[in-house]
Parts: sequence; structure tokens; C-alpha cells
Amino acid sequence: MDKDVIIIGGGPSGLSTALHLHRTAPHLTPRILILEKEHYPRFKLCAGGLTVDAETILERLGLDVNEVPHVFADNVRFDFESKGLNIRNTKRHVLRVIRRDEFDHWLAKKAGSRGIEIRQGVTVKDITPTPDEVIVETDQGTYHAQIVVGADGSNGVTRRCVFPNAPVYTARVLEILTPTQPSPNYGEIGGWQGRGRLAFFEFSPVPKNIAGYIWDFPTQVKGEPMRCWGIYDTNILAYGKRPQLKDTLADEMKRVGFDLNEYEIKGHPIRWFSPENKMSVPRVLFVGDAVGADPIFGEGISIALGYGNLAAREISESIQRNEFSFRGFKRRVVRSALGQTLIARWVITYIIYPMKWRWFQILLWRVMKPVVIAVAWIFVLNWGKRMPTP
Ligand SMILES: Cc1cc2nc3c(=O)[nH]c(=O)nc-3n(C[C@H](O)[C@H](O)[C@H](O)COP(=O)(O)OP(=O)(O)OC[C@H]3O[C@@H](n4cnc5c(N)ncnc54)[C@H](O)[C@@H]3O)c2cc1C
Repeated sequence: MDKDVIIIGGGPSGLSTALHLHRTAPHLTPRILILEKEHYPRFKLCAGGLTVDAETILERLGLDVNEVPHVFADNVRFDFESKGLNIRNTKRHVLRVIRRDEFDHWLAKKAGSRGIEIRQGVTVKDITPTPDEVIVETDQGTYHAQIVVGADGSNGVTRRCVFPNAPVYTARVLEILTPTQPSPNYGEIGGWQGRGRLAFFEFSPVPKNIAGYIWDFPTQVKGEPMRCWGIYDTNILAYGKRPQLKDTLADEMKRVGFDLNEYEIKGHPIRWFSPENKMSVPRVLFVGDAVGADPIFGEGISIALGYGNLAAREISESIQRNEFSFRGFKRRVVRSALGQTLIARWVITYIIYPMKWRWFQILLWRVMKPVVIAVAWIFVLNWGKRMPTP
């Protein structure tokens, strides 16, 4: 056996699993191996919005995320056709925005400094669980492990090998980086002051069967202030006629003076959580996007970090018992604070997007503000501190 635990993918979910294992079962550290196909710092398409729960989980691992270059959003707006509700926390920022090349590289360095081995530039091609071991075929040879963790993201090979025919719930997402000021092509835009430390979510695409939103976050690239724009569509209204995602984003950017055609546009799917999604087979566990991110927003960094906490506990207990069925893993995830927020977010998704009518969206984002804020506070945020202490 090469290792007890092979983790496929060194993104937030894989690194969190390893860091939590190091915390809960330090004796296993030399028996953990992460296989990552890229070399850090590697590009990952992501807006980089870190919620309070991501910060809580990192803090409890003894990590100081202030070490990663970031900008803060002090206000977050949830708008429908430019009017809606504003969320502000007088004591702290509402969202921390990082770049994923920097954040993931930092997290990988922290794992390395705690003795966790990461082999970079190794692409996993195939996974075969057997009753006695898991065989992992890569472009650089074959590995054998007691346990494999599929942390290889929305398009991961682990899930494709283990559940080739499982239903897939994926969102379409496009992203663009722009300067902070509008395009000179559009001349002076009346009233445009720059959005500064405001993060925007705009739900006007919903009545057009795009079950999601457009975002505009403050960010930085190599210390230079920038904006990160994008559009997210869960695809749950895919049965209806929909405009092109790109055109819908272009219209919104044009409204505030940005010409989408001047910037490079990139897309990547996000697999989102549904209670139907499978989470394990004997000897193989899934974490992060390989199970599913938040369906409402596609928020997945905090979720990935949370899955890592639960997977580590499951792995250390199974090694203690020498029993690798992982039969109860899904039940334990669903009952955890992470599982409860995921189920709540899945229910909310199937309310706020199918109720796509303009009048309902106006009611939701402009009239029902206290209800929306209370639901967000109770069901969407603040689950990180209710996770098991690592
Ligand atoms: C456009 C966009 C914007 C987003 N914005 C946000 C946001 O603002 N906030 C937020 O919380 N979430 C956001 N997300 C979601 C977030 O990026 C993901 O949920 C998160 O990255 C999931 O982490 P993960 O570790 O599960 O997977 P990933 O981050 O995808 O990591 C998987 C890792 O596995 C490696 N890998 C893949 N295949 C193999 C293989 N065969 N062999 C070896 N290694 C492999 C990859 O190189 C990668 O390093 C966004 C996603 C997109 C697409």
C-alpha cells in the first residue's frame, strides 16, 4: 500500500480534508498524499468571495487568512432591477474577496508546512475501488491506497469513475475581470461614482428563465484594484426559452458603462448540492464540488472547507475501526451544520428561482427585506461555528 489516504485534488476541499486530518489524527500525517494535476500557484476560475463561515473554519485550523492578499466588501446589495436590500455589518466586513491562485497556494503551503505531502503535476486518470484497496492510475504511475478522497471539483474524474450514471446538477457560470472604472467608449455615465467596497448581486435575469444572478465584486489582481463580474445560472429553468448568458451579462454591464467585449470572458460549471447526490462508496469519499456547492449562489469555498472537516473525522474513525464502508457518511453530513445549510439552501433555490415572476422577485428583494435577512442569517450563514471542533 503506498498510502492510507490519497486525496485527489488540492483545492480547498482536498486541502481542508488533509489539514483537518492532521488536526484530528496527527499520526496519520505521513500516510496522507494529495495528488494535484496543476502546479501552484494555479489558475482557478472563481470570484473568490469568502463568507464568514470560511473564515471561521480557517481560524479553527489555526490559520490566519489575513496573510492572503484580499479586499473587503463592507456592503452587499441584493437587487432586482437595481433596487433591493443592502446588508451591512457594522462590526466587520460582509465579504472578503481573495484570488484563488493566491488563496489555494497559501493553503497548500500551510498543508506542506504541517508535513502533508502534495505531489503537483500528477493527473489522475482512473480510480478502481476493490474490497482491499483503491487503485489510482495517474499519468505518472499507479498508486494504491486504503482510502481515496475525491476532491477534484465539478468536472472530477473520481466521480465519473465511481458514479458514471449518477444525475448531475450543474450551474453555468461566466466570469470577467474589469478595471474599476467604466469603459471610455461609453463616455460619462451619469451618477457613476465607482462601486468601491460594494458587492452586488442582481436578480433581474430570473424572469428570463436564468435561475441565478449577475454579480459585481471588488477584487484585486497583483495589488491592482479591479472588479470581478459574472453570471450564474443553476439551470433549473432550462426548460424555458432563455437569452444567451453572455448577452444578459453584457446588458447589465452596459447599464453602468462597461463594454463586455473589451474583456476576456471565461466559463466553468459548478456542480451543486442536491439531497440526491451520492457522497461515498466503500473506500471512497467525496468532498467539495465533487459532492455539490451551494445551489442558490454557487458559493463553494466555505462549503468545500466544511466538507473537509467532516471527511477527516470519518476517515480517522474508519482507520481506527479498520472498516471502510463509509455507510453512514451521507447521513452524518446531512445532519451536520453544513448539511443543514445545504438542505436549506436547496429548498430556498427551489422557491426563489421557479417563482420567477417579476412581481414575486420585487416582493422578495424589495418588500420582504426583514424576512430575507432573517432567513439568510439563520439558514444560510453562521453554520461554520456549529461544525465539530477540529
Ligand atoms: C466562475 C465561478 C465563480 C465562483 N465564485 C465563488 C465565490 O465567489 N465564492 C465561493 O465560495 N465559491 C465560488 N465558486 C465556487 C468555488 O470555486 C468552488 O466551489 C470551489 O473551488 C470548490 O473547491 P473544491 O476543492 O471542491 O474544487 P476545486 O477548487 O475545483 O479544486 C479541485 C482541484 O482538483 C484538481 N484536479 C482536478 N482533476 C484532477 C485530476 N484528474 N488529477 C489531479 N488533480 C485534479 C484541480 O486542479 C483543482 O486544484 C465559483 C465558481 C466559479 C466557476
